[in-house]
Order: sequence, then C-alpha cells, then structure tokens
Amino acid sequence: MGRVEGKVALVTGGGSGLGAADCEALAREGATVVVTDVKLEPALAVADRIGNGALAMALDVSDEAQWIAVMQEIEARFGRLDVLVNNAGVVLNADVEDTTLEQYRWVNAIMSDGVFLGCKHAIPLMNRNDGGSIINMSSTGALLGYPIFFAYSAAKGAVRAMTKSIAVMCQEKGYKIRCNSVHPGAIETPMVQTAEGRAPQEVAEGVLPPGTPGHPKDVAALVLFLASDESRFINGAEMVIDNGVTIRP
Ligand code: NAD
Repeated sequence: MGRVEGKVALVTGGGSGLGAADCEALAREGATVVVTDVKLEPALAVADRIGNGALAMALDVSDEAQWIAVMQEIEARFGRLDVLVNNAGVVLNADVEDTTLEQYRWVNAIMSDGVFLGCKHAIPLMNRNDGGSIINMSSTGALLGYPIFFAYSAAKGAVRAMTKSIAVMCQEKGYKIRCNSVHPGAIETPMVQTAEGRAPQEVAEGVLPPGTPGHPKDVAALVLFLASDESRFINGAEMVIDNGVTIRP
C-alpha cells in the first residue's frame, strides 16, 4: 500500500525540476498524477516516465480559464482531487530599482495569481469528496527577501500569507482541507542554474555542507509527506527546507 494510494494529485510546473520530482514521488507511492505545465511536451515526458495512470495537460497557471478547464477534465475523468501542488514558477534577477512594473506583474501573475487561482478552483472539487491537501511552493525568499530577486521574493511572500489564510478559512468552514507552504533554499534545478548563470552540477546524496544546493528529491520527500495523511496535524505551516541556511547568524 503506497503512502498516497488512491489519491488524485495535480502538480503545476510538473515538467521540470522540483515539479517533476514531486510527480515521480507521488506516483511511486500510489497517486494518480495530473502532470501540468505551461509547456505540454515536458509534462507528457514526465507522465510517460512515472506511469501509474498519469495524465499530462497544458496549464498556464496565470490563466483562470485554463484552471477551470483542467478542473472540469479532472472531475470528468477521476471524479475527485485530493492533492494540489502549486509548484510552477519563474525567476527574475533584478532588485527593486531595476525591476519594471511589467516584469513585476509577470512574476506575480505566475507565482502569486497562479497559486490563488489554483487554490480557488481546487477547493470546490476537493470538497466534493474527502477534502485534501494543498501544498504551495514558496521559498526562503519569502522569509529573507533576497535583494536580487525582488519580485520573486514578493510573490513568494504572498504565497506564504495566502497559505495561512486558506488554512484558517478551511478550518472555520469545516472543510477537510489542509494548506501548507514549502520554503526551499537553493535546490539544483534548471531554475537555479539559470539564476546563477552556471552549468548543471550533480548534487551528492547524504549530509550536505552549508551552502551546498539540495536535490529535487529532498523537496519531493517533504511534498509527499504533506500530501499523505501522515501529516494530518500539519496545517497552515511554513516548512523550511534549506539545510539550516536561514537560521545561520
Ligand atoms: P524549473 O525552472 O526547473 O521548473 C519550473 C517549471 O514551471 C517549468 O517546467 C516551467 O515550464 C513551469 N512554468 C513556468 N511558467 C509557468 C506557467 N505560467 N504556468 C505553468 N507552468 C509554468 O524550476 P524549479 O527550481 O523546479 O522551481 C519549482 C518551484 O520551486 C518554483 O515555484 C520555484 O520558485 C520554487 N523554488 C525553487 C528553488 C530552487 O532552488 N530550485 C528554491 C525555492 C523555491
């Protein structure tokens, strides 16, 4: 019996990096995964690789009409949604002085509006069955406010706050839906390589020295736990996963 056996899980930005690792972990532990991404090709490749009835769909998270269509498709095919991983993201290297309003809106449309829309449209479907677990991918940027990633940090801060707002609302309305945010430090994915302008490198397994980036599997293990009923008492939490970087003096 897998840890998320019988659950239907939707992952956004599932074609790459952390999202792809989340899809793999969820499918391995028995979930039927709806792998979505703004680009269909990588989502198809991930769905093909993880199997277990995975379905690939194109979804631009900043587009409300696409969210509505994806939820209708999931309801028609599976009749339920148990897990939503709001993972899709982009990065912009610019401090506040160098960020244009257009760039700020672009980053926030994907990472702030996208998470809002995902939660808004998943909750009614989750409520039709046994409730569910919403996992919102934030960042240590939400806690530290990285100067060089200004719009990114602002969007991730919004994700942190909306997560708590949704968790409390669900409790107050008697919904069996938990909502938590995940705050990774640097994890070796195409996004970090782009942000830092360097070539991919392999990350060693095992105990990592300070400053070493983590592996997507490190975050996927936490996402899997939050998706499973093992974490039933964790709600509205901000789960930092950064090898201690944010607590170092
Ligand atoms: P990645 O670039 O490897 O993957 C991001 C995915 O999001 C891509 O598949 C991309 O196509 C998709 N995407 C982009 N715009 C989209 C849109 N409008 N709609 C749907 N999908 C879209 O990046 P990653 O490192 O795997 O990042 C995944 C998440 O984790 C992001 O939210 C990121 O901010 C967060 N995060 C990453 C790190 C890290 O160090 N890698 C640290 C903290 C938080």
